[in-house]
Amino acid sequence: MRPVGVRGKLTAWYILVFGVVLACFCISIYVMMESKLLCSVDRRLQTMAELISKTELCAVPNFLPPDFERRLNRIFGTRPVGKFVRVLDLAGEIGSRTDNLEEDKIPVNKDLVRQVVASGEIVFETQYPLGPKIPIRFINFPVKRFNQNKVHGVVQVGTSLEFVRESMRNLVVVFLVLVPSLLFAAALVGFFLAGKAFKPIREIARTTRHITVNNLDERITVPAARDDIGELASTINGMLDRLSLSFQKTTQFTADASHELRTPLTIMQGELEIALRGERSVEEYIETLGSSLEEVERMSKIVNDLLLLSKSDMGHEVTRRDPVDLVTLLDSLLPHFKILAEAQQIELSSSLVEVDTVFGDQLRLRQLLVNLLTNAIRYTAAGGKVDLTLRNIDSGVEIAVADTGIGIPAEDIPRIFDRFYRADKARSRQYGGSGLGLSIVKSIVNAHEGSITVDSVVGDGSVFKVTLPTG
Ligand code: ADP
Repeated sequence: MRPVGVRGKLTAWYILVFGVVLACFCISIYVMMESKLLCSVDRRLQTMAELISKTELCAVPNFLPPDFERRLNRIFGTRPVGKFVRVLDLAGEIGSRTDNLEEDKIPVNKDLVRQVVASGEIVFETQYPLGPKIPIRFINFPVKRFNQNKVHGVVQVGTSLEFVRESMRNLVVVFLVLVPSLLFAAALVGFFLAGKAFKPIREIARTTRHITVNNLDERITVPAARDDIGELASTINGMLDRLSLSFQKTTQFTADASHELRTPLTIMQGELEIALRGERSVEEYIETLGSSLEEVERMSKIVNDLLLLSKSDMGHEVTRRDPVDLVTLLDSLLPHFKILAEAQQIELSSSLVEVDTVFGDQLRLRQLLVNLLTNAIRYTAAGGKVDLTLRNIDSGVEIAVADTGIGIPAEDIPRIFDRFYRADKARSRQYGGSGLGLSIVKSIVNAHEGSITVDSVVGDGSVFKVTLPTG
């Protein structure tokens, strides 16, 4: 998005709208003015015709008084400039007329005259006898005797509409000069204002362009005014916060993953190098290979866990929605853990009541239980207890794994679900933990739209509660 482009587009729209409004305004002024001028011409023609119709000039319509023009001048006090006057009889024959127009120049529309005579109404007419550019407007005024309705002649008073035409032409010239000048001025003002309005956006674009992975903590200055632009700046800043956080996490994750894989590799390398330094007995080779296999298995588990987590991160993993009977699932799992617990002199108890069926992926739910039970046994000392309960609650089914183990310090609790995070590093590594177990538990819980909580007191033990919806 180039700001100048938007600025230009906005100005163009503004000019278009302003131009249309201006055009409408000019057309209305033109039409109104033309009709006003015509009205005033018609009014004047009517006043004159009415006056003439009441004089002796119309007493006998088909008779031309000897000094028609002089008498006419006397009526108006002056000679009516640019006007012609004709008195017609009932058949439309000219009785008297002024000399300023040749008789045949403006032919009498006899049908119209007959219409005026019959109806007794005034009729206006425009003719072009002197060419299409010179319209002549005239009135057909019915002459009636005093107190009678009967028409006995028609007075025609006409005038050229040349000056109306002239006035309208002048108006068009004014419009032609005024409209482009106004549009030009409006374009300048519009372009300037659009530029001013877009300035903060250009600033935002400039700052955003400079932000790369190397300066992800830089932020856009949020304008003081809480308007759309302020909101845009805050939104971009929020996005940068999230990006920065996830970038940090990714970097940390890569570093941790490399570190985790490097440890077994270093161990393996050392053992193999020692084995190769001289001839060894078969037992020694078997021991070295066995130990290397252990390290390979450890790496393989880490790689599998990572693969699983990255799949669920990318959302590629489709969570099945099969009905899962948790009691049956736990019944099949518990015997193995009982053996494991006994080996470490830990008492593993369980209270499994029939619970509602949950819908999900049986294999993944099995892994969730395995991870929680493994941790409970791993972080509980000999003589301790691990208890597993299953029950229905309002929001679904609750699985609780409680132990009397070492507990988790309060400051570590928010981080134990992070990848590769270990609260008790020495112990975790000693038992083969990689810090991925609870991250996997969390991703399984999320995929099933459930929730997980931890209650823990250092030295007393921990309780992990997982709630899975049943609907
Ligand atoms: P690990 O493979 O190290 O066990 P997890 O992701 O499963 O990794 O657990 C993260 C950390 O949380 C562990 O290193 C441990 O410090 C702590 N933790 C998990 N479960 C328990 C528990 N039941 N009791 C005490 N600490 C626990």
